Amino acid sequence: MIPFLDLRKTNLQYSKEIKEAINRVVESGIYIQGDENRLFEEEYSNFIGTRFAIGCGNGLNALSLIFKAYKELGILREGDHVIVPANTYIATILSISGNGLIPILVEPDKDTYQIDSQKIEEAITPQTKAILIVHLYGQCAYTDKIGDICKKHNFILIEDNAQAHGCIIKGRRTGSLGHAAAHSFYPTKNLGAIGDGGAVTTDDPLIATTIRSIANYGSVSKNMFRYKGTNSRLDEIQAAVLRVKLKHLEEDNDRRKHIAKEYIKGIDNINIKLPVISDFDAHVFHQFPILCEKRELLMRHLENKRIYTAIHYPLPPHLQECYREWNHRHYPVTEYIHANELSLPISPVLTQSEVTEIITAINNWEE
Ligand SMILES: *Cc1c(COP(=O)(O)O)cnc(C)c1O
Repeated sequence: MIPFLDLRKTNLQYSKEIKEAINRVVESGIYIQGDENRLFEEEYSNFIGTRFAIGCGNGLNALSLIFKAYKELGILREGDHVIVPANTYIATILSISGNGLIPILVEPDKDTYQIDSQKIEEAITPQTKAILIVHLYGQCAYTDKIGDICKKHNFILIEDNAQAHGCIIKGRRTGSLGHAAAHSFYPTKNLGAIGDGGAVTTDDPLIATTIRSIANYGSVSKNMFRYKGTNSRLDEIQAAVLRVKLKHLEEDNDRRKHIAKEYIKGIDNINIKLPVISDFDAHVFHQFPILCEKRELLMRHLENKRIYTAIHYPLPPHLQECYREWNHRHYPVTEYIHANELSLPISPVLTQSEVTEIITAINNWEE
């Protein structure tokens, strides 16, 4: 049996170090905002290449804290437009609408699945103030064109790096490319905790202090509150575990990359479209998304061989009930991807023989 993702096995790789880290926290007597948080923030900002990292409760909180901080600083206002890819995970869009800002959905490129730089320009309005790019499936979404658009119009560039920890483009890591970036450490992510966790990275000291304050009830010093804040802190145990996982992130990502290359080399079936990868550095393969017009049949064929796959994602945000005001709209590229996408297993603990078994099963499938 090949599960889509064996999280237990993933973490058991580092079980001794993880247990030591957890024990250290239990015995320290400090369970919130202690040394583990401080050190993780230091190590993670060094890794990403930003001046600051601020731990928080989860990835959605990280995104929301960024928007809330820009609003508190008067840089964003209610009703401002934020450009975002139409085919992202729901959390990206919730962070915009949840802050009284208007998500402007832009179609992805049909080959890379990343936001289409050409279509961004068409979506700009006088109210546009920010672009939120998402490094979807682990692939860098940033392009020089996006950078130029932001400079030309003075837009804030925010990255959703929930799926792309460790990804590098031209020597820089995703999470350091814009004004601020949100990271999720949900257990299934490339850098996953053993519970919820998130962080914001930025080079901007004002954004960093504002976010730190908002995430701690809005306090600027003990019992003094400047903002109507919230409570979103990275748990000390999760910070300790993440310090262990961060040390091994690159070997895990290398393993994902190796599997992706095997898939690209080995899969040969006219019913399947493989992802187009121009730069293997700029992809950490959070997912390996293939497109197949008979995806349900392929899924069933693989399940019969006890190989399990997943769909990311079955229904795009604009067709969800929570965004019923958009349900009548059409985003054909997004809808095509959502209707045909199938994610193959690509966890770092997948063995060579499992990879071969998956490739053979796919190549032997006739619809
Ligand atoms: C996982 C994810 C999030 C949300 O992260 P949580 O930690 O689950 O809140 C946001 N955006 C994207 C693209 C994600 O994949």
